[in-house]
Amino acid sequence: MTQLSRRSFLTLAGAAAAGYFVGAPRLAMAVEPFVLPPLPYGDADLAPVISQETIGFHYAKHHQTYVNNLNALVAKPENADYAELGLEEIVRATAHRRSLIALFNNAAQAWNHEFYWNSLTPKGGDNQKPTGMLLEKLEAAFGSYEGFKVKFRDAAVGQFGSGWAWLVCERGELKIVTTSNAGNPLTADPRYFLGKDRKRHYRHGPIPLLTIDVWEHAYYIDYRNRRKDHVDAVINSLLNWNQALDRLAAVS
Ligand code: MN
Repeated sequence: MTQLSRRSFLTLAGAAAAGYFVGAPRLAMAVEPFVLPPLPYGDADLAPVISQETIGFHYAKHHQTYVNNLNALVAKPENADYAELGLEEIVRATAHRRSLIALFNNAAQAWNHEFYWNSLTPKGGDNQKPTGMLLEKLEAAFGSYEGFKVKFRDAAVGQFGSGWAWLVCERGELKIVTTSNAGNPLTADPRYFLGKDRKRHYRHGPIPLLTIDVWEHAYYIDYRNRRKDHVDAVINSLLNWNQALDRLAAVS
């Protein structure tokens, strides 16, 4: 050890012993462990299917609120265990637990919305269309791209109340599933096992490839009660098939 590095080591060790570093990460975490991720496009770029005004509320207010709520929740002493977990880890660790429902709801909505913005792209849908392995699996599961579009629309329209419609991959096959409220396919399976840490770990559910948000806040400014018109427009014009293909390739 050189003189310099030895001095640095002693300085650091002394600082740690004096408590300068103890609690510093926790303090930094407590201020803002989660942040609103940037939109992958401009806030007017999805118009006319999704207006700038809708993005202004949906992204800048609703999504931001889930992130803010989550930050406030993990700052509570009783939730300290969760403050240093990633978003997906919190979703997995809090699913199906009544006493942790607020943590789950806000973490899952933060996860779902980030995934949703990335499921859309300004020239998506029919302008892009699925290709390669993704197209082959879509045809195997739904007959054709057009067949998928009808089934996905019907699932999204048929979801009672607030929730999400998802294209997922489960054991190599594509499926359409819906979830209510903040539900996420990753934790759709309520069975769990206890890990070495004695915490519950949920069995891995299907892998999401694309999603459509069918909470009324996603479409009410632009479409009022016409959920079907909104869903059709999103499927025809905005679905990010290139992203879905990348996600499928990553799990295949
Ligand atoms: Mn939403």
